[in-house]
Amino acid sequence: MAAKLIEKLTAIVGAANVVPEPEARRQYANDQYWYAIAAAAAGQPLSRPDVAVKPTTPQQVAQIVRVANELSVPITPWGGGSGVQGAANADRSGIVIDLRAMNRIREIDLKSLLCVVDAGMTCRDFEAELNQQGLSFTHYPASTEWATIGGSIAARGSGVLSSKYGKIEDHVLSIEFVTPTGELITTPSVPRHAAGPELTQLLIGSEGTLGIVTAASVKLRALPKKRVFGAFAFENIRDGIEAGRRIMVSGLRPPVMRLYDHHAASHSLARAVEVELHTPTMILMFDGEYPELVELEAKIAFDICRECKGKDLPSKIAETWWERRYVFYYPPYAPELPSIWGTVDVVSDFKVIEAVYHATTEAMRAACPPEYGLQLNTHLSHWYEWGSMVYARMKIPKGPANLAEAKALHDQVFYAGVEASMKAGAVLNDHHGVGMRLAPYMKAQYGEGMLALSRIKKGLDPNNILCPGKLELTPELV
Ligand SMILES: Cc1cc2nc3c(=O)[nH]c(=O)nc-3n(C[C@H](O)[C@H](O)[C@H](O)COP(=O)(O)OP(=O)(O)OC[C@H]3O[C@@H](n4cnc5c(N)ncnc54)[C@H](O)[C@@H]3O)c2cc1C
Repeated sequence: MAAKLIEKLTAIVGAANVVPEPEARRQYANDQYWYAIAAAAAGQPLSRPDVAVKPTTPQQVAQIVRVANELSVPITPWGGGSGVQGAANADRSGIVIDLRAMNRIREIDLKSLLCVVDAGMTCRDFEAELNQQGLSFTHYPASTEWATIGGSIAARGSGVLSSKYGKIEDHVLSIEFVTPTGELITTPSVPRHAAGPELTQLLIGSEGTLGIVTAASVKLRALPKKRVFGAFAFENIRDGIEAGRRIMVSGLRPPVMRLYDHHAASHSLARAVEVELHTPTMILMFDGEYPELVELEAKIAFDICRECKGKDLPSKIAETWWERRYVFYYPPYAPELPSIWGTVDVVSDFKVIEAVYHATTEAMRAACPPEYGLQLNTHLSHWYEWGSMVYARMKIPKGPANLAEAKALHDQVFYAGVEASMKAGAVLNDHHGVGMRLAPYMKAQYGEGMLALSRIKKGLDPNNILCPGKLELTPELV
């Protein structure tokens, strides 16, 4: 069977683009989910592909999917492998389809400011090419060097500019994708139509279970001519949240508005900007084409912060954060084993957001035995006109050496935060997706809706080929 599979894949993409095991298991051993990294390091990888394949055209992707159906072999799509929830791990073996060889801009429509881009292009390369023409995609995830356009769409990602420009689902007009049975489809060219359900949005966030995205038509913008920065210290998180709320409901749109609690301000933010900070701190950035407009917007927002008892800090703090925004996600700053790390990122409306913040952080602190010295830094970013995201970033500097014990400690702290946030009225999650880490909570979030989702999965993927078992979709029960 393995030989037959490899022979068929080689006939489609050529031997140079087929990676059999054991090399496939080495190259695709884990994404960036802490447990996937820890398990791979312990010689027990969650991801165990039999073969990886690197198609160069959408037609090849479709052919590969048809072969997988014929031989009943599962497929897991792989973008940059930067996901932090474990979604890209090939936990049921089979084929990994690595999409990074499909990495070009296909066309740019300067009149409509639209672009068709291959799914395997990294966000960094896409943005760099656009910037040369004075354009921007405005989707700036902190993982820009790894994350692909297709992976961002599949995991429903968000970038640091989302409070003004939106999340990935707001950037995408249409997608080209291969169905789980191997048909190549392009959705209608615009998302604003009344011709039935929106197929594009069904695929966004589906984490490889409903189709393989091969290209997308996305919105572009001109690079801004002006940026204005501001920073404010608040006595407590409540005042900072109120300032953020008033800014958003008033219709102002700061691309960057990040409110750090006092732990995050004094640790992660202070380290990033090399300034001592001790109280909840908000950094803001406004941008746009017309300098007068940008300055006016910033002035109104800064006045709101002052009305909410915010004290002016040097704007240089926000400017330095902006300049260094990617640095702190990579070595030597990124956590490494034997630490345990992870982020509970949840979203809620303004009515309950303060309660969500307290419930989540208190539950995580209470769940970690003191001897492990939990570091918990929380901020609110990705604001909406109705609410915001709470991003509780945990790090246990030295976890148990035994993998099962380390996992038990991770689960105890991480899921305490997840459950407390849901109980307080939050929704999972803002932008990190579901993966293996949050799959057990799909039922709690969707209730009977899981049956509808499983029926969709069964209808589209009768042979259960694409990422079987992921997202807790259980077509076999339908
Ligand atoms: C340091 C760091 C910082 C991060 N910062 C952010 C951030 O600011 N914002 C954010 O949103 N996320 C962030 N993430 C998480 C991660 O980068 C995102 O989830 C990203 O969208 C994943 O993209 P990827 O190409 O790496 O996808 P992968 O991790 O390879 O895959 C993610 C999921 O999508 C599926 N998939 C991948 N490509 C396709 C495709 N073409 N078609 C169908 N399914 C596909 C995979 O099977 C998997 O289920 C961060 C991660 C790290 C490690």
